[in-house]
Amino acid sequence: MPSTLPSIDRWGSLEGKRVLVRVDFNAPVAEVDGVLRVTDDFRLRSALPLFDDLAARGASVTACTHFGRPNGKVDERFRVEPLRRRLHELRPQITLMENLRFSPGEEANDPVFGASLIAGFDYFVNEAFGASHRAHASIMIPPTLVPSAAGPNLQREVATLLSLLESPSRPFVAVVGGAKVKDKLGVMKVLVVKADAVLVGGGMAYTFAAAEGRCIGGSLFDASHVQECVALLETGTVLIPVDARGLKVGAPFGPDGGPDEALVFGEDIDEGFVGLDIGPLTSEFFAAAIAGARTVLWNGPMGVFEDPRFNAGTEAVARAVVASSAISVVGGGDSVAALNSYGLQDEVSFVSTGGGASLELVELGDLPGLRALRESPWN
Ligand code: AMP
Repeated sequence: MPSTLPSIDRWGSLEGKRVLVRVDFNAPVAEVDGVLRVTDDFRLRSALPLFDDLAARGASVTACTHFGRPNGKVDERFRVEPLRRRLHELRPQITLMENLRFSPGEEANDPVFGASLIAGFDYFVNEAFGASHRAHASIMIPPTLVPSAAGPNLQREVATLLSLLESPSRPFVAVVGGAKVKDKLGVMKVLVVKADAVLVGGGMAYTFAAAEGRCIGGSLFDASHVQECVALLETGTVLIPVDARGLKVGAPFGPDGGPDEALVFGEDIDEGFVGLDIGPLTSEFFAAAIAGARTVLWNGPMGVFEDPRFNAGTEAVARAVVASSAISVVGGGDSVAALNSYGLQDEVSFVSTGGGASLELVELGDLPGLRALRESPWN
């Protein structure tokens, strides 16, 4: 399937042509000396090879992106100005349109809005893997109206994730974490079949623990998905934590930490306590499983890694992934943020930029934005 995505290489010279590029510049911004600035420009920098390639072919390039959630209305907090400022420091010649989500037509996949975006352009490139799981106008409509292609990052993300699922070097170990079990069930259903073992951590692990009949105290629990966890535990090799770090229920935790020292629990967590990270034994046992792997796919933190007291499990997994000789693919905003915070982002084989998109691609094997490119009448 990835080889069938149209690429810009078939276009040759673009002298005098106008190209619209859909990017995902939804980057974090913060006020620095009274000016809003991009605090992590990874997403902007990763589009530069495409911009340079198009410019070398003679094209004039306009980029468009969503930014935050303005919900179809103009919202001053979500103007793209800070993104534009950073982009123009990197490549002054690239134009950046205003936030696509200022129009309700974007998320509604309105063909009229989509047509207005591409009006006046000769070509379209989708370089927004992280937005390609959404059937939004800027993703879906341009390929129906002008010759369109997948950008190099989009191609690479898709090829990497799909080849990992199609022919992984084994053992293939998947590590899944994060807070919400329901967000990860779809991908877990695929991984229990494709991977040799799925290690589950984070808040979502407690619903699995409860499904095994363990006590989880006041830890995160999703009663409506226990049966699916039971089924997953019966289908494949799903390994859940054997101990935990946590606190008394009600004790504060978060990015600023808190006054109470972390407690360590065994398999069961008593009433009145809450699990907030995998414990030391689990860290060791997950690290050993990762060390023996030849392919590792990791998505989601092992605990409340933003709180230094509950960062150890996520860090242990990150270091084990980096230390292993496995092909390692890390996806999801939180796992990537954690990896960055340990300075390890360049040590893994591949960092997938789109959290939701990479989960959906693993789960369904395709994305609406990829279909739009493949099915373009201009191919
Ligand atoms: P998600 O958005 O579902 O990938 O979850 C990411 C979030 O899960 C992070 O902000 C973590 O702080 C949070 N998290 C991880 N483990 C736990 C836990 N045991 N209890 C509560 N929150 C958790």
